[in-house]
This record gives sequence, C-alpha cells and structure tokens, in this order.
Amino acid sequence: MAWDFATDEDFQPKLDWMREFLDAEILPLEAIAGDCTPEQWRVLTDPLKERVKQQGLWACHLGPDLGGQGWGQVRLALMHEILGRCEFAPMIFGNNAPDSGNAELLAIGASAELRRRWLEPLLAGEMRSAFSMTEPDVAGSDPRLIRTRATLDGDEYVVSGHKWFTTNGSVADFLIVMVVTNPDVHPYQGCSMILVPTDTPGVQIVRDVPNMGEPHIEGPPRPGGHAEIVYDNVRVPATNIIGEPGDGFVLAQKRLGPGRIHHAMRWIGQARRAFDMMCERALSRSAHGSLLADKQMIQDMIAETKMEIEATKLLCMHAAWHMDRHGASASRTQIAMIKVYGTRMLYNAIDRAIQVHGALGYSADLPLEGMYRHARASRLVDGADEVHKVTISRHVLRNYEAVEGWPGEHLPTRRAEALERFADALDTITANS
Ligand SMILES: Cc1cc2nc3c(=O)[nH]c(=O)nc-3n(C[C@H](O)[C@H](O)[C@H](O)COP(=O)(O)OP(=O)(O)OC[C@H]3O[C@@H](n4cnc5c(N)ncnc54)[C@H](O)[C@@H]3O)c2cc1C
Repeated sequence: MAWDFATDEDFQPKLDWMREFLDAEILPLEAIAGDCTPEQWRVLTDPLKERVKQQGLWACHLGPDLGGQGWGQVRLALMHEILGRCEFAPMIFGNNAPDSGNAELLAIGASAELRRRWLEPLLAGEMRSAFSMTEPDVAGSDPRLIRTRATLDGDEYVVSGHKWFTTNGSVADFLIVMVVTNPDVHPYQGCSMILVPTDTPGVQIVRDVPNMGEPHIEGPPRPGGHAEIVYDNVRVPATNIIGEPGDGFVLAQKRLGPGRIHHAMRWIGQARRAFDMMCERALSRSAHGSLLADKQMIQDMIAETKMEIEATKLLCMHAAWHMDRHGASASRTQIAMIKVYGTRMLYNAIDRAIQVHGALGYSADLPLEGMYRHARASRLVDGADEVHKVTISRHVLRNYEAVEGWPGEHLPTRRAEALERFADALDTITANS
C-alpha cells in the first residue's frame, strides 16, 4: 500500500541545493533587476546558469535525449515550488514559460530540421520563443473561434491574423502561432501550429500591451511583455508546421497540461514567500498592547493561509502523480482543480500579507504590491478560472445520472422502501416484544 507523503531520499539533496542557491544567488538579483541593461543581466545570470547545468538541473522538464532529466511531474512539481519564490529562477534553471512549453511542443511534433534550427538553440538558452494563440477580436476562452488563417500556397503557408498577449512576443526569435489551416472542418480538426521566425516580413509587433503587472511600459521591449502582433501575409515554409495539419488542439492540450501544474507549484512558492513575510511582521509589530501575532484575527489569517497553502500542495502533488501515472489528457480534472484552487490560494496569501503589513504592505517598498498585481493574471493565464470550473463540473457530472421523480435521498421514499424490505424482521421483533 503506497500512500506516501515523503520526498525520495536521493532527491531531497537536490531540492536543498536549489533552495540554498535561490536564496543566496538569485533572490539578491531582484533588487537590481530593473536597473540592469540586457548585457549586464547576461553577465550576472550566465554564470548562474552554468552552475545549474553543472548540477544537472538545467531544463529538467525535458527527456535526457534533449539534455534534461526526464523527471516526472511529481519531481518537477517539488522543484517548481522552490523556483516559484523568485520570478527569475525558472529562467536560470532553463524552464521558464513560455520557452519550456514551446520546447516540449517542438520536441513532440517538430521535424528534425525544425528541431535542429530552433529547438537546439532554445534549449541552449541562446534563443527565446513565444506562443501566439489569443486574439483580441474573439474570446480566447473558446479557441474554436480563432480567426488567424494559414493558407497553403505552393510550398509555403501564408499566415494572416491578429493576436495579442503573446508573452515575450516582442523579444522572441520565433513564434509558435495557432492558426486555422482548414476552415471546412470542426476547429478541433482544422487548427494547426506553425513556427514563424519573428523577423519574417509581415510580422508586425504592434506593442507590448500595458497591463496590471507592467502598467507603464517604456523603452525597448523586455522579456515578460505581452505583445500585440499583426500577421500580415506572413510567408513561411510549409515544413514549419508542427505535427500534422489539424493537430493544433491535440498539441495545445499536451503543452498546457504540464505547464498548468508548474504554474500552480510556482504559485505555492510565491504564496509561501508572502506567508513568510506575514509571519515575520506579525511577530515584529505591536499594536494595542500586544504583538499582532497575539491577536486572534491575525492568527486566523495565519491559520487560513497555512491551511490553503498545504491543501493546494496536496491537490497539486496528486495532480502531478495522476499525470505521471495516467497522462495529461486523463488528468484534465485534476489539472483544472489545482489551476482554480491555486489562483485563489495565491491571491488570498498575498492579500493577507499586505493587510498584516498595513501601509507598508501597500507600498512599493515591499515586493508584495507587485506580487499582488502579477497574481491577478493567474485567474486568466492558461484559461480563465470559469472555463476550468466548467471542465471540472462536466467531468464530475459524468459519474451521475438523472432520476425520475423524487431525489435518491428523499427520506419518505427511503423510509417506505426500508419498511417494505425489512417488514418480516420488524414483524418478528413486534411479535416477540
Ligand atoms: C498575463 C497574461 C499572459 C498571457 N499570455 C498568453 C500567451 O503567451 N499566449 C496566448 O496565446 N495567450 C496568452 N494570454 C491570454 C489568455 O490565455 C487569455 O486571456 C484567456 O484564455 C482568456 O481569454 P480572453 O482574454 O479572450 O477572455 P474571454 O474569452 O473574452 O473571457 C472573458 C471572461 O469571460 C468569462 N467566461 C469565458 N468563458 C466562460 C464560460 N464558459 N463560462 C463562464 N464564464 C466564462 C470569464 O470570466 C472570462 O475571464 C495571457 C493572458 C494574460 C493575462
């Protein structure tokens, strides 16, 4: 019987190394990241990437054939919980979104030539990529509405359409674009993914869309921006298609499943950081004659947050285990559950940490206000919460059937059935008494 909550003994030292490395080498960079030029940033972070590679911890989500570890989701989940404490850590460990998911896509579906040209430099950290699916004119929640078209013309596809919120699109070397290749069939069979080099004529990076995370986008494009892009008759070789024509939705499912678990585990890391700050402050600040930590309403916040973090972790580890055992598509309910529950937990944790810090929490002198603004995106990225709840509820309801007449638990009906079933026994008892 295996129902084990312990981390493998051989794996714990790796997690310990990651945690120490993150605290000692990566977290201090946060305080100066905004002041660095891209060149200065490379000088600071390249040696850190080398140290990660020396430890064999680079791009662990990939199989050994691609230079990774081929770890299952359970190990990756534990790793992402640690990396989630600092937004730069995934990049230094070679598994930052969207590059990690895009690398997996190319590994699954790209031709040998595409892999050589684009995947290898991506894995080496020499290139950046973006995933371009959402469009401003139609609901991203319903990707069947996608309008961007790719029409075959000789041995080229001609891509035309309008996308936005393509994360890293303005700094990417290539874009993986979700397009309609066959409008005459259901979108689930008519959509495809095509690799478009960003410098192809017709790719127009309109802007990085100002947003809650970065309201004032100034200067040259930087990683982390969410680009609006017009594809104006962009010609790419037909061989730039990933998988077969019509594979778009199948590939999207494969890409998004693991990504959502990793997001959720990073949220746990973020939430733990906010929680650590909340506890430190509660023990350090006094009001009305006692420490904040001694006040029951503050204790309530600490207890609620701790319970929500641990509940999310259990849900997340179960989803990871389920994926390792049954694959991504059989784990859609589990993945949807941690996506929704994780966002709520994250938001609550940061919100309460701000509350306990009072005006200091609201100020930009602490990272909490930035964490709070970025956390809001979690309810939208990789699908709005409501859409995931639809998935959960649809899957759950498959296990139930409608009944005619009264509900199955209707007490008068159950009593009448029980009286009939046990009539003989009741008669005997009555006769003997
Ligand atoms: C920070 C950030 C980064 C992103 N990065 C990328 C990226 O790299 N690539 C990319 O392609 N996209 C990206 N997106 C886009 C994201 O995937 C979409 O925002 C998301 O899928 C929702 O689509 P939408 O914005 O068009 O909202 P809509 O589809 O218009 O939905 C709006 C709202 O309608 C409600 N709703 C929708 N469907 C239902 C339903 N069935 N039942 C009940 N309510 C419903 C929900 O409340 C939803 O929030 C990013 C978004 C953000 C915020």
